[in-house]
Amino acid sequence: MLSVRQVTVTFGEDQFALCEVAFDLPAGAILGVAGEPGSGRTTLTRVLTGELTDFTGRLTLRPRDGGPEITLRPGTPRPSRWERLAAASPRVLDADTPALTPRQRHADVLVIDDAPPSAEAIGRLARLRDRHGFAVVVTCTDPAALRGVADEVAVLYGGRLVEHGRAEDVWAGPHHPHTIDLFGGAGTGPSRPAGTPGCPYRHRCAYRMTVCDDTDPALDLVTVGSGGTTMAACLQYEREAPDPALLAASGRAVGPRGYASPRDVQPRK
Ligand code: SF4
Repeated sequence: MLSVRQVTVTFGEDQFALCEVAFDLPAGAILGVAGEPGSGRTTLTRVLTGELTDFTGRLTLRPRDGGPEITLRPGTPRPSRWERLAAASPRVLDADTPALTPRQRHADVLVIDDAPPSAEAIGRLARLRDRHGFAVVVTCTDPAALRGVADEVAVLYGGRLVEHGRAEDVWAGPHHPHTIDLFGGAGTGPSRPAGTPGCPYRHRCAYRMTVCDDTDPALDLVTVGSGGTTMAACLQYEREAPDPALLAASGRAVGPRGYASPRDVQPRK
């Protein structure tokens, strides 16, 4: 129903608030977007709601009543029909029976930025979705708080999606080292200086390899054990068989799924 394609927001000379963010949100689904402060969560919600128009990319919304598709284009005012996507304060999750506005009640998509990372608040969100039938994009600092409620989980780091998949797959086994760190409650740390090559997470990554200093990984499909799939932006999950010389140099072993996985190897000391 909601399609987000290659949404990019820049600031300064070469820094990204969002970098080519893309996802589809089916009708009635809940997408939990997790990320630490500065990850781009709030910028994403401002683009979704049409508050921030200085972006590149494209957003389209197919209303659940079968009406014509609505497109949000960069640099142009929000079309009036984009009101079918409504923002709500995280305070609507404070009470069991929140007072939604008519626009929120009849929205196709409800967007809530910075929800309280508590199971109780997120549980209320599921009941709201069940009652009103809208899809939801909810951002939160802690992906664990979204457990049992979100249908899909996306993890933002430095304005990029570094992991995105079915919630049950992400919880069964987070793949990207940043997702693993978020689940483990790791604090914030240094990020890649703007304009330098390599993986944006390499300065904090416990699984960094030599190749990570030169190569910026794309979000790519990873097949997980149950047959489900998730996407991760990490060179540990290259689809090709790993280079034995590279693995030997990095001290890694090939994991049971045929590639070196952060979940299969010991963190770098
Ligand atoms: S590409 Fe390398 S540095 Fe980046 S997250 Fe994966 S292992 Fe870590």
